[in-house]
Amino acid sequence: MTNIVVIGAGVSGITSAYLLSKQKGNVITVVAKHMPGDYDIEYASPWAGANVLPMSHEKDSRWERRTWPEIKRLATEVPEAGIHLQQTILYRREKDLEEIRKGGYNFDGLFAEDPWYKTLFDNYRELGPSELPAGVASGCEFGSACINVMLYLPWLVGQCRANGVVFRRGRVGHVAEGAGLHHTGAAADVVVNATGLLASQLGGVRDAAVVPVRGQVVVVRNEAPHMAAVSSAGDAAAEADGEVTYVMTRAAGGGTVLGGTYQRGRWESQPDPNCAARILRRAVALVPGLVPPGAGPEALDIVRHGVGLRPYRDGGARVERENVAGVWVVHNYGHGGWGYQASYGCAEDVVALVGEIAALA
Ligand SMILES: Cc1cc2nc3c(=O)[nH]c(=O)nc-3n(C[C@H](O)[C@H](O)[C@H](O)COP(=O)(O)OP(=O)(O)OC[C@H]3O[C@@H](n4cnc5c(N)ncnc54)[C@H](O)[C@@H]3O)c2cc1C
Repeated sequence: MTNIVVIGAGVSGITSAYLLSKQKGNVITVVAKHMPGDYDIEYASPWAGANVLPMSHEKDSRWERRTWPEIKRLATEVPEAGIHLQQTILYRREKDLEEIRKGGYNFDGLFAEDPWYKTLFDNYRELGPSELPAGVASGCEFGSACINVMLYLPWLVGQCRANGVVFRRGRVGHVAEGAGLHHTGAAADVVVNATGLLASQLGGVRDAAVVPVRGQVVVVRNEAPHMAAVSSAGDAAAEADGEVTYVMTRAAGGGTVLGGTYQRGRWESQPDPNCAARILRRAVALVPGLVPPGAGPEALDIVRHGVGLRPYRDGGARVERENVAGVWVVHNYGHGGWGYQASYGCAEDVVALVGEIAALA
């Protein structure tokens, strides 16, 4: 029997709990300050699109590679999970090509020419010259998926509960305190730290490499014929302020998420109305099919404005084990803008690390 406390009920914590709960002998409590259903600036998961647009370079692609088959299976076989397949178009602007070729452009590997993920998706193809808008040097198209996170997170909680996982509200001051929060009253053998951005503040961790990357979005009722993103906003002032452009329609009436911003080190929780107006304008330019022929951004029907903070970590996500003050901890945090699309790969590593710790006992 292995008693486990997972701190955090975002996609990283709940997916870890879910995969751990499938292993015989694991008894799991999830403790979190925020739960699915909450909207809070300290809680990234409800703000995500969330789609699958690979961000990693090939050498770091294992988590995203491993997660895609499960997302695809859920989209095709499990309608109640709230995921659907959606065609995606990516454009690489002429002016960004030099940086993209160096491999360090915004969104890491996403806009690479000849990307590693071209063999991951079933129907990847490069666009022909006649399919490219003005100023765009090249682009590609592939079948990806979009997750309605409002349906998906409760679905994940339900899967965990069906496997006996207990969910409790709580605020943990020091990661080692987690060991005293197991629902059985026994000390936990392992604490999983899935605290996202707050790993920068949690006692025993205080990871200074974790920083917010602010994402402002607008959710609209209009549906897009496909998902799309472009390598830069195409407006120098907006780009200098970290503005980006992407469109994704969530499954099952979840609306379409129009993005957005990618603003490192910024904590403001309130949407900027001027930025929102630019997001709407650029979204319609990118995907004209969002609105009726001839209409402009005024034809977008807004559900809400929002801001989430991506839990970015310099040097990459931290998925490893550590003994903190005599308590075994498995860390799973720092996933930036790709926490959903790498969630199963990372959670599989958590399962393996918990297994290693159990074997030490
Ligand atoms: C605008 C935007 C768009 C995005 N789009 C995508 C996308 O398209 N695809 C994709 O894959 N990802 C996307 N992301 C990224 C994704 O949302 C994150 O990577 C992911 O949600 C991180 O999940 P997490 O569980 O690690 O952290 P969080 O969701 O932030 O959860 C952290 C949990 O830890 C708890 N916690 C923290 N500290 C404590 C404490 N001391 N005590 C108790 N509980 C604590 C919190 O209450 C919470 O439950 C996007 C993010 C944003 C903001």
